[in-house]
Amino acid sequence: MSRQKKRFIAGATCPSCQAMDTIELYLENNVETIHCVQCHYKKQQPDDATQAATRQFEQVIGIFKPDA
Ligand SMILES: [Zn+2]
Repeated sequence: MSRQKKRFIAGATCPSCQAMDTIELYLENNVETIHCVQCHYKKQQPDDATQAATRQFEQVIGIFKPDA
């Protein structure tokens, strides 16, 4: 059913509630969207800091799921 890819961004801090590891990332209309599961803060096109963390995370995923 829910084939929507949602991943938590390790080490990311919510800009709104400052909670850590509550940020999930998913694609909404092909736009990277971050969402805090704690305060429901939501933002598209994450800023550079989040972007960098995301990239790092993607690489880790790539190791475990190459060409999935
Ligand atoms: Zn939050």
